[in-house]
Parts: sequence; C-alpha cells; structure tokens
Amino acid sequence: MSNKYYIKTFGCAMNFSDSERLSTLLENYQLKSAQKIERASLVIFNTCGIRQMAEDRVYGQIHNLRKNYPNIKIILTGCLSHRPDVQFRLKNKVDLFYKISDKNKIKNWLNKNYPKAQNPKSRTKVSHQENIAYLSVAPKYTDKHQAFVPIMTGCNNFCAYCVVPYARGREVSRSAEEILMEIKNLIQKNYKDIILLGQNVNSYCGTFKGKRIDFATLLQMINNLSGNFWINFISSHPKDMSDKLIKTFTSLEKVCEHIHLPIQAGDNKTLKRMNRKYTRMHYLKLIKKIKIGFEKNKPGKIFSITTDIIVGFPGETKEQFRKSAEVMHRVKYDMVYFGQFSPRPGTTAWNMKDNVSKQEKVRREKYLNEILKKSSYANNKKYVDKIIDILIEKEKNGFYYGKTRTAKNVKLLIGKNKNLIGNFIKTKITKANIWNLEGEIIS
Ligand code: SF4
Repeated sequence: MSNKYYIKTFGCAMNFSDSERLSTLLENYQLKSAQKIERASLVIFNTCGIRQMAEDRVYGQIHNLRKNYPNIKIILTGCLSHRPDVQFRLKNKVDLFYKISDKNKIKNWLNKNYPKAQNPKSRTKVSHQENIAYLSVAPKYTDKHQAFVPIMTGCNNFCAYCVVPYARGREVSRSAEEILMEIKNLIQKNYKDIILLGQNVNSYCGTFKGKRIDFATLLQMINNLSGNFWINFISSHPKDMSDKLIKTFTSLEKVCEHIHLPIQAGDNKTLKRMNRKYTRMHYLKLIKKIKIGFEKNKPGKIFSITTDIIVGFPGETKEQFRKSAEVMHRVKYDMVYFGQFSPRPGTTAWNMKDNVSKQEKVRREKYLNEILKKSSYANNKKYVDKIIDILIEKEKNGFYYGKTRTAKNVKLLIGKNKNLIGNFIKTKITKANIWNLEGEIIS
C-alpha cells in the first residue's frame, strides 16, 4: 500500500489553515502528499458543519471512497467530528474520528499505523495550552505568497445557529511571540499577504513577555515588522470592535483598507434570537466610525466593507427581513456572503421552528443579491482611472489575476510583463464590472 495521504478540506479559511498544519504532522510519519484522492492510502476529511449541504457531501464522498477502495484508511476531523450522530452514521466507514486540536489522539493513531520520519519537520515553540498546541506545528503552506496565520481558535459566543463553540471549544489565543515568529519566517520567504485568522479576532487575548495584549496591540506589533507585506484579518465580531481597534486598523500602514464585519441580520429581534449581542444601531454606529477612521487616517484611499447575512432564520418575518435589506442600502457593501438558514444539530436554533420555506429563503437571498450588485458596481466604479497596487496571484490564458488592498479581484493582460506572480504591481484600473475590476500594468 502506498504511503500517501490526501486531505479533503471543506469550509472556511480556518479549516484550510488547520489542514496545512495537519500536512506537516502527517509528513513527520513518512507520509507523502498524493495529487489525487485515489492514489492515497490515507484520506482525511476536514469537515464543515455550517450547512446540511456541506455535511451531505461528506457522507456521499466517504460512502463512495469506502465502496471503491475498501482498504483505504479514512480519518474524519473538523466541525462534524465531535457529533455522536455523525460518528454513529459513519462508524463502519471511518477509521478515526478526532477533534482537530486533539494532537495526541492523531499522533497515537499515526504511531500505531505509520513509521516515524528520522528528521521530523521543524516546529515553532510549543504552546502551554493543550487545546491550542496543534497550532504550534509549522504548517505546509499551500500558497507561495499568501499565508493564513491563526492567532486564536474557538469561540465563546454561542450564536444560536453556529456549531463552532461545540466543535472547537472556547477561545484560546496564541502568544504574540509565536505569531510574530511565524510571520517573520513568512516575510523571509517573501510572503506578501498575511491573513490573520480567528473565529473572533477582535477578542484576541494573548501574551507578550508574560503580559496580556489585545488585538490592536498585536496588529501594531506585526505592522512594526520590517518588510513589504500586507496584513488582513478575519473574522470580527461587532460586539468586540473597540474604538481603539478601529483607530488602529484604519491607520496602520500595512493593514489593508478592508474590513469584514458580519451583521447576520438587520433586525434587532432576529439578532436577539441569534444571540448576537448587539443591535442594528450599534452595528451602524461602528460602520460610521470605521468610515470616518479610514477617511481621517488614510485620506484619499478607497476602502471596502464586506459582511455575512443569514436569510430565513427561524421566525424571520418579511418585515424583519426588510431590515437586512435596509442595512444593505445604508452601508453599501462591497461584498456580502449570504447563507440560507440551515438547522444544525446541537445548536440552539436546532430547536427553533425552521418556518421560512426553502423557496422564500431563495427569494430573500436573490432580493439582497440585487441590492449587492448595485452597491458593488457603484463602489467598483470609484477605482476607474486610479493607479493602485495589485498583488498578482495567478495567470491563466494570457491574463494575470490579482487582488487589491481592498480585496477586489483584478484581471490584467500579461503582455510583455512576465513572471510577476507574487509581486506588488502598480496598475491603472480601466474598467469596473459588478464583481471585479480590469486594469493594465504600469511599467
Ligand atoms: S461568533 Fe458566532 S458565528 Fe462566529 S464562530 Fe462564534 S458562535 Fe460562530
């Protein structure tokens, strides 16, 4: 049997980042990465439990894999791995269920099934906290220019619809020393886009030289590192967005002019049922402060605001839904990630009556998407004729594709400008579309 592994990652950037760390761990057991799932002897499903559809895809793929390759070893981790009903359903198909933070469980299993490498890959300093120790494994980064750096994991908020606090446990933050060491290493390797990750980065509460520090201080410390790189971060909870943090991220030179601030719903009663712990007014005041902050601290620079909205949360009336539409008109988002409510076992909303029909959820999402198209296009038009920095990410069929500091995708003709992937390039924006920009490289 081949000693090859394949990781199938579902869901968010945090899962993606966890898989990068898991790769290193597996390679410490003489396992090599397989290009295709069918070439692997060990397949790991790093799962997402946010919607039933994502869950069903995992069941389907595991079923087919087991049927076609009866001798393959299958591990299931991520957001579904803790659920007794999932473990029961897949008990004859999966060899190991483990929580991503349970490094000992996977190591014990690997010790029994695979030989250890002579020279295991280097690690950063080990954290004292058991449930965050897995983040101390040096990841095998998938991209060469953009890196996800988790600064914390877990969540204390228990939003009614969300599985994360059950799947990942309570919030734990990495020390600033460990984060800075990882980022310095990335800068040396010429990484240009550092994306700080956490379920709620705003409540980061790590230490530096034994003293507690908050997220604003951490951002300041990363900004002070020498090198030419961008800093981005996801995700922020509105209830933990302090004035100090707004002042910090709207003014630091390396922090990009983009904020993702999930609102989830524009109606106070819906927000309360969701257990979001802020009101629509509080959220709108934050947006105002952020806009003022960018205008004052980075005058003349375009900034962007994105969010998440759930449609059809249990009990959401048409009138309450209209409040989400109203917020969208007011904020004029650059992007909104919509989710049609899907009840998740174990969450508070699981016991609520899912009384908005599928058809109505589709209609509501479509309605909001039309508002988004208008605001996104109007915002994109502000870029035309401007000269801005683009990070070139890939090339295809004679074009480069890159992104702006405001997380806009840009398409550029390659022409004579070869080998620019991973570089910041001055670009003149020539055309605005609804979802992206087009431009030409200024040589
Ligand atoms: S803040 Fe809410 S939505 Fe975000 S991870 Fe925590 S519980 Fe889930």
